[in-house]
Amino acid sequence: MDTNSVGLLLQQKGVIKPCHRCDHMKFTVLNGFTKFILQKNFRDGVEAGGASVPVINVACDNCGAITAHAVGALGLKLD
Ligand SMILES: [Zn+2]
Repeated sequence: MDTNSVGLLLQQKGVIKPCHRCDHMKFTVLNGFTKFILQKNFRDGVEAGGASVPVINVACDNCGAITAHAVGALGLKLD
């Protein structure tokens, strides 16, 4: 994943506001994907192999607050 391209893509989509926690203006796109697991319930614990939403994460360079962006909404590929 090209983190610079992701940063530019976010800017093109108007993702330019300061950090929601500390108002800092500089961020780092973390190099890799994570996912949000989608479950209907937790009766059997966390189901890691079920439905999920892949995301990229952006961390505030000042306070470290992390914001997730859905890969599909950004038109990114997972390879
Ligand atoms: Zn911050």
